[in-house]
Amino acid sequence: MSKNTLVRSRNRSYACQDGCCFYCGLPMWLEDRVKFASTFQLTPRQINPLQCTGEHLIARRDGGDESEANIAAACLHCNRLRHARKNPPSASDYKLLVQKQVRKGRWHHQFIMERFAKILC
Ligand SMILES: [Zn+2]
Repeated sequence: MSKNTLVRSRNRSYACQDGCCFYCGLPMWLEDRVKFASTFQLTPRQINPLQCTGEHLIARRDGGDESEANIAAACLHCNRLRHARKNPPSASDYKLLVQKQVRKGRWHHQFIMERFAKILC
């Protein structure tokens, strides 16, 4: 499938998830990075990890495709860390793991966790 399909699926998921990451639940930015940064009083650089990406729930190498059913909107941080693992956990296992860390206030940089502590989706 084409990149356009991925982008379309990602954008739909972003809308369905109210702009929040599938894993950590934090708000993400899709296009207007500067506006997002100023809304949350962070610098554009600080919000890099919160960029919205199209996350393959079933990885491509395991046969997952770019259909809407397989694409969730996830922040860059969650997306990268999942696939950086040697044996990436399933999407549902990873979500549990991430949310456990989020509850402890330990997932994103501290300045992000502090800023979003009260407004998790
Ligand atoms: Zn996330």
